[in-house]
Amino acid sequence: MKYSIEPSQTAFDVDGVVADTMALFLRLARERYGLHYLTKDHIRDYDLYQCLDLSREVIDDLICLTLDDTHTLETPPMLAAPDVLSDLAPHGALRFVTARIWPDSIIRWLQKTLPSVDPAQIQVIATGAPESKLKILKEMGVRYFIEDRWETCSLLAREGIQPILFDQPWNRTRQADHFPRVGSWLELRRWFLLPDNGIG
Ligand SMILES: [Mg+2]
Repeated sequence: MKYSIEPSQTAFDVDGVVADTMALFLRLARERYGLHYLTKDHIRDYDLYQCLDLSREVIDDLICLTLDDTHTLETPPMLAAPDVLSDLAPHGALRFVTARIWPDSIIRWLQKTLPSVDPAQIQVIATGAPESKLKILKEMGVRYFIEDRWETCSLLAREGIQPILFDQPWNRTRQADHFPRVGSWLELRRWFLLPDNGIG
């Protein structure tokens, strides 16, 4: 399917879309607990307690570490995300809506990840809960939202915001089948009608 999305009407989720947060989670699982067998393909559900055969204490510790200020700054970006976002910046402010509770570390991470983008062009709203994204996106007048949690996509779609599902192992469910699914930032670049820039 081919889409064309207007950059100025779009906002982005951060974790699992711009930030490869699960790569950091897996790195910490290896380093702290020796869980070398774990890969992203083990994460078939957004709820880690449902899909990982680990104790609640271990999962809680890894989530805390992954989201703390120090490790947030070490999160790798998703492939090509910095290039595409930098190319989108001249079209207007880049708007990020995250379910994290505090925006500060994510703002610092985005500024570090997008060094060529004017910090004033990077806007981050931390809603504290995925369900709160709807109200914020409506107030912002956003038409398209790039998101990896299919449950959030369902909520937005019911209220007239077009979700674009960013493909991840935890959103390959039948319930997500009717949302447009984008497999990578290189593909997303074409949906924004940006030239391939030699890396696609
Ligand atoms: Mg996410």
